[in-house]
Amino acid sequence: MTQTEIAAIGKQVTRLACLHYWRDDPAIARELRDALARSTHSIEHARRVVDRIVETQTDVPTPAEIRRMASEVSAGVRRRYCDACARTGWVSRVIHGYDYAERCACNPAEAA
Ligand SMILES: [Zn+2]
Repeated sequence: MTQTEIAAIGKQVTRLACLHYWRDDPAIARELRDALARSTHSIEHARRVVDRIVETQTDVPTPAEIRRMASEVSAGVRRRYCDACARTGWVSRVIHGYDYAERCACNPAEAA
């Protein structure tokens, strides 16, 4: 995980400040950030986990609650914006005069 990603995850954790029992304690914030970073697959996933927590919980979660929430919130579905396919996941390609839809690099085939 890069410094930029760690900062982005840390920023998501500060959104929890709107919940009850938030304490401005760097040690607690670090534990929450680590739990969020380890249990999510991307910054987007982390953002959706925090969205879900903020929308459904009243108290600041524990690291264990963050992990549980992360496993409930889907990691996939919404992809990062892609210039090649405008997030459709498919690009059109002409082969011998026929138009084909081809998987975009941002949309790898699911493991069977
Ligand atoms: Zn794409």
